[in-house]
Amino acid sequence: MRIAVLLKEVPDTYSDRTMNLETGLTDRSGDVVADEVGERAVEAALRIAGSAGESQVDILSVGPETSVGSIRKGIAMGATEAYLVSDSKLVGADLTLTAEVLAALVKRNGYDLVVAGSSSSDGASGVIPAMVGELLDYPALTNLTDLRVEGTSVAATQASDGAVVELACELPAVAAVSDEFPDARFPNFKGLMAAKKKEINAVTLADLDVDPEDWTHARAIVVDIAERPARERGEIVDGNSQAASKLVDFLESKNLTAKEARS
Ligand SMILES: Cc1cc2nc3c(=O)[nH]c(=O)nc-3n(C[C@H](O)[C@H](O)[C@H](O)COP(=O)(O)OP(=O)(O)OC[C@H]3O[C@@H](n4cnc5c(N)ncnc54)[C@H](O)[C@@H]3O)c2cc1C
Repeated sequence: MRIAVLLKEVPDTYSDRTMNLETGLTDRSGDVVADEVGERAVEAALRIAGSAGESQVDILSVGPETSVGSIRKGIAMGATEAYLVSDSKLVGADLTLTAEVLAALVKRNGYDLVVAGSSSSDGASGVIPAMVGELLDYPALTNLTDLRVEGTSVAATQASDGAVVELACELPAVAAVSDEFPDARFPNFKGLMAAKKKEINAVTLADLDVDPEDWTHARAIVVDIAERPARERGEIVDGNSQAASKLVDFLESKNLTAKEARS
């Protein structure tokens, strides 16, 4: 079985994450790492490959050239090949373009199963797996807490509000794993050495025949970005005799009728 894992590099969640207000882009000048949910996706893919017999797990990523360090983590864990699509025309790529590029790479390489994270820790849109599925015409199983593959049949468990949903489909398919999936394994020495030497396959938009300036496709453009205003300090109401009436005044000022509360 050929399995692709969608893995992106993100600013480290332990550091201060900000947007660059000049460029409107994610500030990547601090520490960057492979996204944790993406690492869980690599782990899930390796486990499926391990029980499926002859299989290959490849890492696919869209991002700056500097992402190679994070992608190598997937190789160190046990993935075979890694492909990074990096192109100056992808700076500021929106969701649609990112999904188009990933889908084109999946199509070009040919995979039975695409495993992604449910939602990245930086953009957190939570839609790329479904968009990739739609573009490839593959069923997309999202927000999963469990994923099983037997032969060409996929069975998965999805966490939903107040319910546990069992899903099934046939390969090829896209599966998006949630944070409830097992932690990524620690790479062993052999894996670390292999990752160090491994050449990351560089892919361009021309290779994939994707045109970011094709405005017949849906594209969103950032037109402005501003720092979120700091939260105003709230008023502290002491528990004195005025407290109840102050609270009622506050509710009324917000149009939250409190006439009955006053009486
Ligand atoms: C108009 C516009 C402009 C933007 N400009 C920028 C920008 O300049 N810089 C920037 O960082 N972001 C930018 N973004 C956000 C950018 O589109 C998203 O970072 C990216 O498309 C993925 O979104 P996400 O991480 O929210 O995806 P999610 O749907 O939350 O990701 C879910 C999963 O999909 C996979 N995945 C998502 N993205 C990738 C990827 N790139 N490579 C491999 N796998 C992936 C991973 O498995 C991930 O866990 C822009 C968005 C818009 C709308």
